Amino acid sequence: MLTPVLSDNWDQIRAWQLSSYQRSGGYDALQTALRMQPADVVTAVKDSGLRGRGGAGFPTGMKWSFIPQDNPKPKYLVVNADESEPGTCKDIPLMMASPHTLVEGVIISSYAIRASTAFIYVRGEVLHVVRRLQQAVEEAKAAGFIGTNILGSGYDLDVIVHAGAGAYICGEETALLDSLEGRRGQPRLRPPFPAVAGLYGCPTVINNVESIASVPAIIKNGPDWFGTMGTEKSKGMTLYSLSGHVTRPGQYEAPLGITLRELIDLAGGVREGHQLKFWTPGGSSTPLLTAEHLDVPLDYEGVGAAGSMLGTKALQIFDETVCVVRSVLRWTEFYKHESCGKCTPCREGTWWLVQILERLEKGQGSEADLETLLDLSENITGRSFCALADGATAPITSSIQHFKDEYLAHFTHGGCPFDPMASTVFA
Ligand code: NAD
Repeated sequence: MLTPVLSDNWDQIRAWQLSSYQRSGGYDALQTALRMQPADVVTAVKDSGLRGRGGAGFPTGMKWSFIPQDNPKPKYLVVNADESEPGTCKDIPLMMASPHTLVEGVIISSYAIRASTAFIYVRGEVLHVVRRLQQAVEEAKAAGFIGTNILGSGYDLDVIVHAGAGAYICGEETALLDSLEGRRGQPRLRPPFPAVAGLYGCPTVINNVESIASVPAIIKNGPDWFGTMGTEKSKGMTLYSLSGHVTRPGQYEAPLGITLRELIDLAGGVREGHQLKFWTPGGSSTPLLTAEHLDVPLDYEGVGAAGSMLGTKALQIFDETVCVVRSVLRWTEFYKHESCGKCTPCREGTWWLVQILERLEKGQGSEADLETLLDLSENITGRSFCALADGATAPITSSIQHFKDEYLAHFTHGGCPFDPMASTVFA
């Protein structure tokens, strides 16, 4: 059931060092790619069916093919390493355990789109990751994998590791670009998409860490190999992050289409003596699912059909000791805090959502508040500049759909009916 490709070398001694990475075949794919035409590398990634692992699942090769090669402006590759969605914790372990997998992916991907500068934009709080990546880039430079005339191919590339300043909004690709340009990180209107007008107004590919880290294995083993894993429309292996009430939380690399039931088994089950109550398929900005959805295939189509989104594959598992209203309030406070304030539905809407949820959680609301929450959510969703506000409303609407009785129990009980000390997550 497990398909270790990205995590294959994580348990090697000093896996983050170049020598260790090369012992397990690291940088062989770069040599293969540099013997190919850049357009053929794009075709290989397109044919593999790789879809963006940052959450949206947009086809990676197709995104690369949007880069207009007749445009005389420079082209850029930007890696979105600003992972900060609540519950999402796959890119940081990947970069810490095997930074060269990402660096090799960056070089191959930059070559494919003919970029001569690449940026890795890392979340500012994770200084240890920034240092590890900088060290890997220096090692790759010293080995001739980055710089001028890479491995005698005539191709030149500079790779810059850039630390953000710790704002969730900077994970939104256009806010990230503004931040990288030295401005306050706020989303831009799309279109134009970054592929047409991105960094400094130039054609730019922005991809998530895991997407770019998947490229060396695709080049090494071929696009057909990638398609042997996963489902027809959601191909390949991926990192699922299990957190919360499972016996062994952590990263599980498995094919797309595996079910939560299978993953929970791999993680030693829900903690002893307890049952699954609700879970997030892709962090807190994807609609909540329940124990009824244990057998939903965890791929873009399967989770979509169940009324949610695969998103970042951040599976947060909550057992029956957790108050869903309290969890939703916590997440909504996060979105309110992180709203960049550029657009009114998000700035004002998230503030109002918190006010109402706070009242409900204390048992001071009324059933009419639930209608107001749903009404507000409808007026926010799809009406803001970026996906932040849509994400904020997803746990609210889905929790009311699945757990309306629990909201009502707060009124009849005159407060939260749950013992907060019973939960390890929210204690
Ligand atoms: P999106 O679907 O709008 O875009 C996805 C990607 O495809 C972008 O790179 C975009 O530029 C590109 N794209 C889409 N249509 C295009 C077109 N017509 N031409 C050229 N390029 C095109 O999604 P989004 O708003 O960028 O991201 C939302 C996702 O981010 C959510 O699914 C969420 O799961 C995820 N997310 C992740 C984190 C994290 O920490 N990893 C945090 C918050 C949100």
